[in-house]
Amino acid sequence: MTRKLLPFLLLLGVSFSACEKKPPELPDMPPPAELNILMGNPSEATTNVVNSNNYLISLPEYALSYNRTKGIPNWVSWYLSSEWLGPVNRQDDFRPYDQLPAGWYQVSSMDYIGSGFDRGHNCPSGDRTLTVADNSSTFYMVNIIPQAPQVNQDPWEKMETYCRQLAQQGNELYIIMGNYGSGGTGNNGFATTISGGKVTVPAAVWKAVLVLPRGENDLSRITENSRLIAVIIPNENIAGNLHWGDYRTTVNQIEITTGYDLFSNIPIAIQDILEARKDTGPTN
Ligand code: MN
Repeated sequence: MTRKLLPFLLLLGVSFSACEKKPPELPDMPPPAELNILMGNPSEATTNVVNSNNYLISLPEYALSYNRTKGIPNWVSWYLSSEWLGPVNRQDDFRPYDQLPAGWYQVSSMDYIGSGFDRGHNCPSGDRTLTVADNSSTFYMVNIIPQAPQVNQDPWEKMETYCRQLAQQGNELYIIMGNYGSGGTGNNGFATTISGGKVTVPAAVWKAVLVLPRGENDLSRITENSRLIAVIIPNENIAGNLHWGDYRTTVNQIEITTGYDLFSNIPIAIQDILEARKDTGPTN
């Protein structure tokens, strides 16, 4: 959903042509936060603290369902377009998210040290480079899972790069990443949890990506021909041997496995077709 700048620019053009000045540079503004969850709330997460394992956290950069018991998000959802891609370097300031409800354990980087698992981003650092604050936001530990290093650093990273490439080529992307189960294999072997049980190691990690050419009113222009990419990758170091495209599956498979309804705001007839189809498009 590109910003509707045209009337504004026309207005500036008229007012400035009268005194022959160029219009000032427009400030860089991120797309609105509502876009992060425009396609739906897969688990109907809410900010009711009673539902502590499906607790909605909505930031300008992404929205997520947090699982207090597991110490990780169930899923993270965000919008990506070239408007989000700027000059900011990776901040690397992993830190607890201190806005969790009172009394909840705040997972920190310390919980991952020596675990044999990477601090794996859901919404990637590279997708939020407009301002330092935006990039820094991706390093909150509520956006992080224990991810097998060979998955995080190879197929997962390549899929993220491909998504940014699609954005740079003039697409808008609606991305949801999540996980399920417990028990993965990192550099120290198999584990179901780390840090003495404070953080669950997922068994598998999934991602679903809706790709639309740039335009307006995104929900209304999704058709049965729209591109929808879905993958499920086991959280095991050995999974890094394959290209991410080899892990492609259907959104239906993610929904069956997790019990969530992804892209629930898309009209059901179109949703049914898109979610049953496995993507066969390019992967780099
Ligand atoms: Mn769905």
